[in-house]
Parts: sequence; C-alpha cells; structure tokens
Amino acid sequence: MADILYIVVPCYNEQEVLYETAKRLSAKLQTLIKESKISPKSRILFVNDGSLDGTWAIIEKLHENSQYINGINLTRNRGHQNALLAGLSVACEKADLTISMDADLQDDIDAVDKMLDKYYDGCDIVYGVRKSRKNDSFFKKITAEGFYRLMNFLGAQTVFNHADYRLMSKRAVKNLEQFNEVNLFLRGIIPMIGYKSDIVYYDRKKRFAGKSKYPLRKMLHFAAEGITSFSTKPIRYITLIGSLIFIVSIIMIIAFIIDWGRGNTVSGWASIICSIWAIGGLIMLSLGIIGEYIGKMYLETKKRPRYIIEKVLDDEEPTK
Ligand code: UDP
Ligand code: MG
Repeated sequence: MADILYIVVPCYNEQEVLYETAKRLSAKLQTLIKESKISPKSRILFVNDGSLDGTWAIIEKLHENSQYINGINLTRNRGHQNALLAGLSVACEKADLTISMDADLQDDIDAVDKMLDKYYDGCDIVYGVRKSRKNDSFFKKITAEGFYRLMNFLGAQTVFNHADYRLMSKRAVKNLEQFNEVNLFLRGIIPMIGYKSDIVYYDRKKRFAGKSKYPLRKMLHFAAEGITSFSTKPIRYITLIGSLIFIVSIIMIIAFIIDWGRGNTVSGWASIICSIWAIGGLIMLSLGIIGEYIGKMYLETKKRPRYIIEKVLDDEEPTK
C-alpha cells in the first residue's frame, strides 16, 4: 500500500490564485493516486494564515466540494513560517509524508514526482532547489543570493536557492517539532535534523496572480531573523573590530605623545571630530546587535505558542 501524502500550502490573502492552485494540485494528487504512487487517503491541506480577504471562505468551499481538500484556520496572521509549521504538524497526524509549497504556483508541481521517487529511495527530506533566478527581478536575485552566501559564511547551513518547497517524512516532521524556538527559520533548522536527504531541481515560475506577500520590509526582517537565529558570529566580529580600534587608538596616543615631545602642535580638529563620530557610531552599532540577541533571548524565554488553530477542516464530520 502506497504512503499517505499531505501537500501543505500556507495562504495569506491568496483569493486570486486559490481556485487555480486547488484545481492543479487536485489533478496532480489524483494522477499520483491513479499511478499508485500515493495512497487514496492523500490530501491537500490549505493553511489560512489570518488572511484579510476571502481566502478562508474559499478554502471552506473547496473542502465542501472536494474530498481531497482539507483546511486549517489560524486565529491571526503569524507569518509564512509559523503557518507552514502549523500545517506540517496537523498533516503529520495522518500523513506518512508531507510536501510544502507556496500557494502562488511558483513552485513547479511536476517536481513532486521526482521528490516522491527520492522518498521511496529512502530519503527523509528532499529539498526543491530552483535551477535559476531568471524570473526574478535583478534586485531580488542579488539580495536573495547574497543572503544565502552570507548565511553560509556566518555558519548557518542552508541549502543554496532552496526556499520552502520540500518533502519531509513523518519522522522528519516529528523531529522538527522538537525545535522549540519561537523565531522560526525553517530553512536553517531543517538541515539540522539530519537523515538521508537529497535535492530536486525545478524551474521557478512567476507568481500566477496577486502580489507578493513578502515586501522588502518583511524580507529584511526575515533575513535578520535568519542570521541572528543561527549565528552568534556578528557578536564575535564586533568584539574583533572593537579590539582592533582600541589597539589603533593606543598606537595613536603613543605617536601623539612622541610628537608633542618634539614640540609639534596638534592641528586638525576635523579629524578628531570624525573619529569621535566613527567610534560613537561603532559603539551604538555594537550595542544594537547585542541588544538584538538579548531581545531574542527575552522572546524565547517566554515560550509563547507559535500559532493557534481556530478550526480544522478534515475528513471527519465536525463535532458540534
Ligand atoms: N504567506 C503566509 N503568511 C504570510 C506571508 C506569506 O502564509 O504572512 C504565504 C503566501 O500565501 C505564499 C507563501 O507564503 O503561499 C510565499 O509568499 P509569496 O509567494 O508572497 O512570497 P515570494 O514568492 O514573493 O517570496
Ligand atoms: Mg511567491
């Protein structure tokens, strides 16, 4: 008997694409069931991440009309990563394996076949990696690739050009749930789980409809989250820069004393003022970065829930 697959799709204000996404995913699921690659109990699970538009109403309607579509409603917007985790945790109660993908059809659905092949070959995690960034704007390409390089340089293991299109077995998801951090950055955490894993390459398309839910502000926040959640190297670099500046200032003081002994008068107020500003700036920057980590510790110690589910639509009739 083939294994049960749940495709988990986080959705935030996705009413423009949802019908099309549901249509294509259902067709894919049914083909896979027919080919006996997955069990007929396989489902698509839409997670509504506190959308402000008609997304949840559409999910409810889709669930009513199709046996293959289930849904979860979060009580409010908690962000892509938390919505995804909520979906994976719920899916994992019934599924043997999960595949997560975006709602906007940017991820190539046909890569699912290759992912399944790798799963049946014994992989617990299969990462979807985009072949190129030709559909991205120049700005997005530069910032995104720079981000992956910076992350790896700072010591967090991420898979280059892999977003959140991935297959995970039940036990991989169960292990993911043991990572209790509130600042979720799945791309950094999942490689830490281990197990046999592999990569599937695919062409990432343009968003089918609607606008990106990741404006620059959210992207920068996400990047800062990723870096500070996985690396304390920035703190170490600050200490290093601080020590270097301190050594330079000692050398300067010695040089000035010698100069003064020789009877040279000091000139150049501008340079002094500049150094004061430079050092003042560096100190503030260092404090800021340290504060960033302390803030994180504060949030982590609260152990707040990462999401709260309002309703689950699944195969059983709702209990009234
Ligand atoms: N998303 C979400 N909650 C949010 C923001 C985004 O669940 O707060 C979902 C969104 O509906 C989509 C996925 O995350 O399915 C990726 O978002 P998007 O396609 O807008 O990002 P981009 O591809 O532009 O980076
Ligand atoms: Mg997208």
